[in-house]
Amino acid sequence: MNMNVPLLDLQAQYDGLREEMRAAVDRVFESQHFILGPEVAELERELAAYSRVRHAIGCANGSDALLLALMALGVGEGDEVITTPYSFFATASAMARVGARPVFVDIEPQTYNIDVTKIEDAVTERTRVIMPVHLYGQCAVMEAINEIAARRNLRVVEDAAQAIGADDFERRAGGLSDIGCFSFYPSKNLGAAGDAGMLTTNDDELAERLRVLRVHGGERRYYHRVIGINSRLDALQAAVLRVKLPHLDDWSNARAARAALYNQLFTDAGLTEQITLPFVREGARHIYHQYVIRAAERDRLFEHLKQHGVGTDIYYPVPLHLQECFAYLGYDAGAFPEAERAARETLALPVYPELSREQQQYVVEVIRGFYSTQD
Ligand SMILES: *Cc1c(COP(=O)(O)O)cnc(C)c1O
Repeated sequence: MNMNVPLLDLQAQYDGLREEMRAAVDRVFESQHFILGPEVAELERELAAYSRVRHAIGCANGSDALLLALMALGVGEGDEVITTPYSFFATASAMARVGARPVFVDIEPQTYNIDVTKIEDAVTERTRVIMPVHLYGQCAVMEAINEIAARRNLRVVEDAAQAIGADDFERRAGGLSDIGCFSFYPSKNLGAAGDAGMLTTNDDELAERLRVLRVHGGERRYYHRVIGINSRLDALQAAVLRVKLPHLDDWSNARAARAALYNQLFTDAGLTEQITLPFVREGARHIYHQYVIRAAERDRLFEHLKQHGVGTDIYYPVPLHLQECFAYLGYDAGAFPEAERAARETLALPVYPELSREQQQYVVEVIRGFYSTQD
């Protein structure tokens, strides 16, 4: 039997929302108000409530959110920002774009998030910010990070692009640091119909600064005390996101249920020696932006899955410290063994609310087939 299981199926989600979505889009066209405005303000209010923070500030995309966060904290030339080399490119490029130096710290092998026991060794007198990434939808160990930051007088920015609605004990991603950064890229758990992003903070002054920086630094139109960027959120994107936000918790719970079913199916199939399942640490609500497994023979498994119609991808094949554009930072291969091993061994499987039990059984069966032909 051959089935086709895409890595992500956005059509299925749209089919259930078509009427509401069209009404929302119509509402924006009837208003002819396309940038910021009431639709964006409503989304900001709704998202602040959802993320349990005082302020949410819309912007053009998640990469800009990271950039704006560093700008608002006054990070620039000569400063250092600490993060992991195992993330999407934008985490580190935001630092480089403000003239700061990305300083990498290895990940912990189980969660793929920053290894908090290694942060302090990377702090210098130039360090200004720690930027943990809540990779795949699970929060980094924020209590330890905030404790180091408080002791060393640093600020903390969460790259929460993959973690909307993820909880760390009682608190929620985006409200666990000075500034949280979100992306609504279409494939994220809460996806727009194009590019969109959001910043969150509990600090009134930072919120005000971010609101100014996203509109060229002009508090009043055409009067500029600071130099910002053009990173406004479109009303159309806000309207689309407002249709989806009320469904987000159901979707994230459905993702978690599918992750639990994979765990059970892999365990029942006796595959937990060959592949490592995702690890959820105590107190974490994992929202499974990705369901990522680890396998020593990853590349061959990847090909096998593709040949059998199972969508899969590798996040991320090249750690940031080994990217050509960051050669000037002077890191060698071997500098971050866990990040490098993760880049060699991890692979994402389909996980979304519309994924059926039969599809999941098929995915596990294909992987079982792969290992039954190995010696
Ligand atoms: C998606 C993502 C971003 C960037 O978001 P865009 O909206 O695509 O600019 C940043 N960091 C991480 C970890 C991401 O997954």
